Formats: sequence, structure tokens, C-alpha cells
Amino acid sequence: MRRSRRARTGRHNTARARASVLAAVALAVLVLAVLLMTDFFGPDEGDNGPEPLHAEATAAQPAPAASAVDETETASSIEVPEVVGKTLAEAHVLLSTAGIAVETEEDVSVAADAVGDARTVLDQDPPAGTVMPAGTAVRLRIAASPDASAPGIAAGAVVVIDPGHQSRGDSTPEPVGPGADESKPRVTGGTSGAVTRVPEYEVVLQISTNLKTRLEAAGVTVLMTRTTNDVNVSNSERAAVANDVGADLFVRVHADGNVDSGRAGIATLYPGENRWTKPIVAPSRRAAGLVQESVIAATGAESLGTVPRTDLSGFNWSRVPTVLLECGFMTNPVEDRLLSSPHYQDKLAEGMASGIIAFLNAER
Ligand SMILES: [Zn+2]
Repeated sequence: MRRSRRARTGRHNTARARASVLAAVALAVLVLAVLLMTDFFGPDEGDNGPEPLHAEATAAQPAPAASAVDETETASSIEVPEVVGKTLAEAHVLLSTAGIAVETEEDVSVAADAVGDARTVLDQDPPAGTVMPAGTAVRLRIAASPDASAPGIAAGAVVVIDPGHQSRGDSTPEPVGPGADESKPRVTGGTSGAVTRVPEYEVVLQISTNLKTRLEAAGVTVLMTRTTNDVNVSNSERAAVANDVGADLFVRVHADGNVDSGRAGIATLYPGENRWTKPIVAPSRRAAGLVQESVIAATGAESLGTVPRTDLSGFNWSRVPTVLLECGFMTNPVEDRLLSSPHYQDKLAEGMASGIIAFLNAER
């Protein structure tokens, strides 16, 4: 479920106090206005015409003078101005000038473009053009300020990040899942850059460290399966780190390789259903969708979509929701260079962090 925090502005409170007084006046005025419209335009006025109930009332009461009606019409019903896309400060001015109260609703699932009143209005309810009685509030949806929302975002959540591979693979077999007859090497060395010659384990540790910093800034507790390249931690042992702390998400960071050097793009893998993964398939698929979407948005890379996998030991041993990001192809000269670029690593980590945070918030 998506959480959102609501706050009412001072202007709203003031306007609300007025609203109760105005409500009675507005109601009387509205009736007069409708009566007048009925007399002037008759019942054929289309969408703006009066409803039958009001038409009946018309017959029972005399119509007021035209000059008096023009004034009351202005005071009673207000056309809501368009404020979507404006800053919160501009929206306050526009709406309060029009005599409309403001309620704000902070959406923590959206990354704020600025802080405080400089944030952009994402949505308004009711929409522009709606005619409503004076004193009624318009609700504005805005992104939560990073400063205000960071402690709230996913606070208390635990994410385990697994930078794939290590400087030396270990081909000793380990079962592909608990109790499995089939086995695979404990951990492999991974691929390396076609042009840069940088190994995958090095690049993915850089990206993972960047991601850790961003998640921690959002209040997430982060554990790493490794913080250096010279380790020997098998895929099942990496999953065990996430299992032992009951991680909300186990995030595995890899880069791809292919014999076709033209192959490019980002994919997010998640556990396909088998005898081990059944309880974690659904949340893992949700996480994969959110992470893939935001990483593609942040990087502009080609999307290779989300891919279920039943053959990965790291998934089969995991008892918590898990995804594996293939951040790009090191066998592609362009993506190889990008993957070693700090700027591109920032974009990758930024996209991953916002997808992960969206998942953590959605699951709570
Ligand atoms: Zn890999």
C-alpha cells in the first residue's frame, strides 16, 4: 500500500473558518443563481443547464433582479484555475486570490524536484475549470521534500546489496538450491570490459557502493555481501546474508556479457517459480518491475525488460524478495565505457535507489 502524508496549510485553516460562514450564504446564493439561469436560458441549456429539482424550485419563487444576480453569481461559485505544473507557492497565490482554500498531499513515492514551496504541483482535485462554491478546498498533490521525507521513506527497511562475483572465481560446486542434487560453481569471476578491460566485479562494486550511499540517505539500513574484491563468498552464502537479517529486498548487481558485441541494454532478473522460490516470486516480480522502470528512466538505456530465472543459485537460496540487475553489456564498447563512467554509475544507482524505495514503500 502506498503511504502518503497529508498536511494542511495555514491558509487552509483560515479559509476553513470562513468556509462555515460562507457555506450558508453560498447555498442561498447558489439557489438564486440557478433560479436565474433557469429563467434566462430555460431547460435546454445543455450540460450547464439546471437540474429538474432546481427547475421545480424556480416555479415556486420569483426571480430576483438581473443586477443583483450578477453579483451573487460571482461571489458564490468559483472556477478552479489550473495549477498543475506550477510551484506550490504560485498555486497558493492563484488559489487564495480566487478565494479557494488549499490542502496539500505529499506523495513520498515521487522524487521531489525541489524543496518546500518550490516543489511542482503534480495533480489537483478538483481539476481546472470545475465550478465550485467559495470556501471549498482544492487538494494539491506534490512530491515530498527530500529533507522532510527521507527519514520517513523506507525508514527501518533493510536492503542487502550483493555486488556480483569477486576477483577470483571459486569453481568448487555448491547445490543450486537447498537440498538440490544439481550443483554449480560457488561463484564465478564474471565478465570484463571489451574496451576498458575493467572486470565486472570491480564495476559492480562501484555501482553497489554508490547505491548503498543513496539508500542510506533515505533511511534504509544497508548490508553488503562484500566491500572488497578479494573475497571468497559463494552465491548461497550471499543469499544467506540477506536471509539472516530478514532483508526486505536482496539486490544483486551485475553486468552482462555476450558474444554479440552489438548487444546492449539493461535487464532486471527475478526468481521464476520453482520448488524453492514460490513464496518470493510475487514480491520479487513487483520489485523487478519498479527497479527496471526507474533505472531505464534514469539512464535512457535500452530496456530488455524483467526476466524470471529458475536456474540461479543466488535466487534459489534466497528466502527474501530478490532481484538481479544486469546493468549493461561489458562486451559492448559503448556500454563498457559507460559502465566505468562515474556519471553513468550515478544514473544507474539513482534509478536503482528510487525503484527500490518505491518497492519498500509499496510493500509496507
Ligand atoms: Zn555477473
